[in-house]
Amino acid sequence: MTAIIALVGRPNVGKSTLFNRLTKSRNALVADMPGLTRDRHYGVGKMGERPYLVVDTGGFEPEQREGLIAAMADQTRQAIAESDAVCFVVDAKEGISSQDEEIAQVLRRSGKPIYLVLNKMDVKGAVAEMGEFHRLGLGQPYTISAAHGHGVAPLMDAILEALPAPESVAKAPEKGPRIAVLGRPNVGKSTLVNAMLGEDRVIVFDAPGTTRDSIRIPYERHGKPYVMIDTAGVRRRARVGEGLEKLSVLKTLEALRDADVVLLVLDAHQGIADQDAHLVGIAVELGRPVVLVVNKWDGLTAEARKALREQLQRRLDFIAYAPVYTISALHGTGVGDLYRSIDKLWASARQHFSTGQLNRVLEDVISTHQPPLAGGRRIKLRYCHQGGENPITLVFHGNQLTRLPGSYKRYLEGAFRKALGIDQIPVRLIFRQGE
Ligand code: GDP
Ligand code: GDP
Repeated sequence: MTAIIALVGRPNVGKSTLFNRLTKSRNALVADMPGLTRDRHYGVGKMGERPYLVVDTGGFEPEQREGLIAAMADQTRQAIAESDAVCFVVDAKEGISSQDEEIAQVLRRSGKPIYLVLNKMDVKGAVAEMGEFHRLGLGQPYTISAAHGHGVAPLMDAILEALPAPESVAKAPEKGPRIAVLGRPNVGKSTLVNAMLGEDRVIVFDAPGTTRDSIRIPYERHGKPYVMIDTAGVRRRARVGEGLEKLSVLKTLEALRDADVVLLVLDAHQGIADQDAHLVGIAVELGRPVVLVVNKWDGLTAEARKALREQLQRRLDFIAYAPVYTISALHGTGVGDLYRSIDKLWASARQHFSTGQLNRVLEDVISTHQPPLAGGRRIKLRYCHQGGENPITLVFHGNQLTRLPGSYKRYLEGAFRKALGIDQIPVRLIFRQGE
């Protein structure tokens, strides 16, 4: 399970600085999706091989001092409720203020794992009185410098280690693929969800299991089980096209995290926007299999169709492996193809390859095209094993692997995809140094 970590604390303690450090990856920010609430910052980061989501709350304003707890912004409270762990950031240089004590009190009651983080440890004279921080009753503090990065990795290790490993979730009893239909407002998500659930052959079970707001709808199609993650609350809306309640970024991220297959809906009339590319980027980062669904294909001229295909290639080149379907959700055309694609991606992403099989591929791959020399010695790939599924993770062992050029990694990835028949899903390659 990808952990959701909330950063909480009063202003100026260094939350944004820590946020930036934790989300250094390519698709750090999704705060700018029009139509989505944007008062908080969300990002995806990675610690070693484990991705996580970070929410920077910034919710405690000094003006609201009198009734801090009462005024504790709903947003922050919601972020705490939705998170798996909370980093309570305080300023090591300034020590504990009464505001900090009030926040601590709220956090202790939240029932979430709380990590007390003393930031700005690089400042001279920081934390003269360690005992002061113990008074908060939040356990041993983690000392960091968000600005310089010291202590951040041990903090993240501690947080992630205490949470269930991603594998334990992947192995949960499966009831068919969990599908998330995501995209910008008005691209046709609700129309598509309704088309997918509204087919004659579909039996929708009435079991609105809701944990974090997004409803999961279990159903069967041709006797096969599926679960629709209804982020947009389609089923709760009276009419399609009706303005939908603002879909929070967090809900989108959670759906991405929880889905086995993501249908990323694009609007053929609008073309591909930055937010589309962002969303796809995050799906890739979280290792989710994606189907690119180009909706509203009806009524498009041949020229416009051609232009759109070119745009797809250009703007979403980093996910060139994903299947693309052109559909009209409104007319219900192309929906059957989507199901075939969903079934295929789901099955692909859950495969397990034996170490023997992987090493036979590795031998072939190396004999066709050897890794280059580095510092006069040949880089050696010794063996490979599967480190996980969905995303399929291939772990390579060998020498000088840190010097393996990107071009060779791309060659490896391509060759393994082809040999294993996993050409449409994300694959993660990990290189482990060692003899
Ligand atoms: P936020 O309001 O909690 O999000 O705080 P910011 O991240 O905006 O940081 C407030 C100020 O503290 C900025 O001037 C930062 O440069 C500074 N700051 C943040 N982290 C550190 C740190 O680890 N060391 C030092 N010396 N300054 C820091
Ligand atoms: P959402 O905000 O992404 O859930 O989008 P909706 O499903 O509410 O659709 C937004 C608008 O696009 C509505 O007016 C739909 O009727 C229209 N729409 C949805 N799918 C199609 C389609 O395939 N073709 C055309 N022409 N319009 C569509």
